[in-house]
Amino acid sequence: MHFKVLAEFFGKIEKVSSRLKMTDLLAELFEKADSDGIAKVIYLFQGQLAPAFEQVEIGMGEKFVEEAIAKASGYTREEVHKAYKEKGDLGLVAEQLLGKKKQKSLFSAELSVEKVFRNLMKIATSEGQGSQQLKIKLLAELLNSASPIEARYIVRIPLGKMRLGIGDPTIMDAFALNLLPEAKKGKKLVKEVKAELKEKKPEKRKEEEERKLRAKVREMIEGKYNVHSDLGSIAEKLKKHGLDGLKNVEIRPGVPIRPTLAERLPTAREIVEKLGKCAVEAKYDGFRLAVHKDGSRVSIFSRRQENVTEMFPEVAEAVRKQVKAEKAIFEGEALAFNEETGEYYPFQVTIQRKRKYDVGKMAKEFPLTLFCFDVLYEDGKNLMQLPFKERREKLEKLIGKGKTIVLTDSIITDDPKKIEKYFDESVEKGLEGIIAKDLEAPYIAGARKFAWIKLKRSYRSELSDTIDTVVIGYFKGRGQRTKFGLGALLTAVYDEKEDRFKSIAKIGTGMSEQQLADLHKMLSKSKQKKKPARVDSELEPDSWVEPRHVIEVNADEITKSPMHTAAREKGKEGLALRFPRMVKIRQDKKPEQATTVKEVAAMFKRQKHVKTGE
Ligand code: AMP
Repeated sequence: MHFKVLAEFFGKIEKVSSRLKMTDLLAELFEKADSDGIAKVIYLFQGQLAPAFEQVEIGMGEKFVEEAIAKASGYTREEVHKAYKEKGDLGLVAEQLLGKKKQKSLFSAELSVEKVFRNLMKIATSEGQGSQQLKIKLLAELLNSASPIEARYIVRIPLGKMRLGIGDPTIMDAFALNLLPEAKKGKKLVKEVKAELKEKKPEKRKEEEERKLRAKVREMIEGKYNVHSDLGSIAEKLKKHGLDGLKNVEIRPGVPIRPTLAERLPTAREIVEKLGKCAVEAKYDGFRLAVHKDGSRVSIFSRRQENVTEMFPEVAEAVRKQVKAEKAIFEGEALAFNEETGEYYPFQVTIQRKRKYDVGKMAKEFPLTLFCFDVLYEDGKNLMQLPFKERREKLEKLIGKGKTIVLTDSIITDDPKKIEKYFDESVEKGLEGIIAKDLEAPYIAGARKFAWIKLKRSYRSELSDTIDTVVIGYFKGRGQRTKFGLGALLTAVYDEKEDRFKSIAKIGTGMSEQQLADLHKMLSKSKQKKKPARVDSELEPDSWVEPRHVIEVNADEITKSPMHTAAREKGKEGLALRFPRMVKIRQDKKPEQATTVKEVAAMFKRQKHVKTGE
């Protein structure tokens, strides 16, 4: 495929804000792409060159990108920099300057997606002496052959600023739209949908049928994506074999699975009403690790599906010694353990193990214990469909004796009193609370369906749980805080239905001075001049930031508010947090894993319910 075709689509998509229109445009593009190139197209939409877990970083600093633009356009570095100061977007600068190039290129070939990809890959993988110059040369080479619109995106990719406003959900919607004609021919699917619509009036059925069919296809795609986090390879299979291609998408050690999520309920009694007899486990406050073993090769993934194997050498080592299977995928929570006192360190200490430097030294000083709570795969068998109680039995057999990998503490009961006692004991030990688990439930990848229910100690403050919000902007500090460059954060929750981030709180308390400085440093890297594409907010911060960072927040209650857009329906008020305070930065969560609008709305309803005693 010519890169120009892709760049023109990027351009069209950037202009529209309606998700429906975006989906239509994407579907049209996927129709055009060939099956060999589609994976690359998908990765570029995701702003990456390979699935995220492969960690191919294309990052190039602005200075070097400016140099490449200068090289390709014939303008000086100073001129390029001046244009950047005016426009605030190097993509637009490249587009403009290459449009009125001072020098004609000696050689310019029509760019293919493959060629662009190849150079970007070289930029990503070259390191060591002379690599900066090589990166500049590779980027300039692309720009030399690029038309202005191509230049805009060629520059934005290595800067990590594609700004298309498209998330994975919209990409999957577009696939579903494309596959609808095929689905209509599928007898089994159509029969299923017809059966579900039997009760509907005949005149409504036709339209509903199409909608339902599309939703089913979408669900099938997402179901596979949840267990195989590589949307590029899924797209390739769909393109080659249609819906049948999904059959070849398998769970495999080395490819992360989306973690199952916990619901929340405020009391032990409600947990028992919901689950009946259930397993109740201690809730450890560390970080969640998914361990993949393939012979002697061990990969460890974070909750965000980043490959963090290098950070935890002692865990990888223990996996080789303690796990009694050739191949396995299992999950646990890792905590730093203080051997001197026999106690677990608080989260602030554990989190220091998430680092790229001094790994060995830190592993000695703060060795981790991994508390395992689930197994998903063992020696060629996908165990996700088994009921939890059977998975737990398998897990108990899988983990051999040792200090580093152990099982979570757990009891089985249907007595709220016993749960409460267990909760109090856990909290006394310095743990976060408990997680109750449905004994009969399968492992539900990427979703929250009351298979797990958490009860945390923070429920004793006004809100029944903390809320994980996404930072979408920040305000400059006033008075004392001017020196940090940041005084308050504007944060949002995630709207899964619309794939957008909706504002819920302005947070100015709970941060130490050090944290304010750290936040400023972290956020200025993803600063934007304009409101980012997937953000809905009427409050205007001093600086917008790309929705990337998740902050855990506590608050007194959820209130209605005309200022915020979370859970706002036409003409009505949205929801906001009252007296929000930051608890910590959640480096383990992706923005799409933050608390959702739906959850906040449910918490709001429950809170009313408690207050009025209904
Ligand atoms: P939260 O992040 O507050 O929604 O709570 C869910 C998280 O608790 C999971 O993602 C795990 O990281 C963590 N966790 C701690 N202990 C357990 C356990 N015994 N079972 C499952 N998850 C646990």
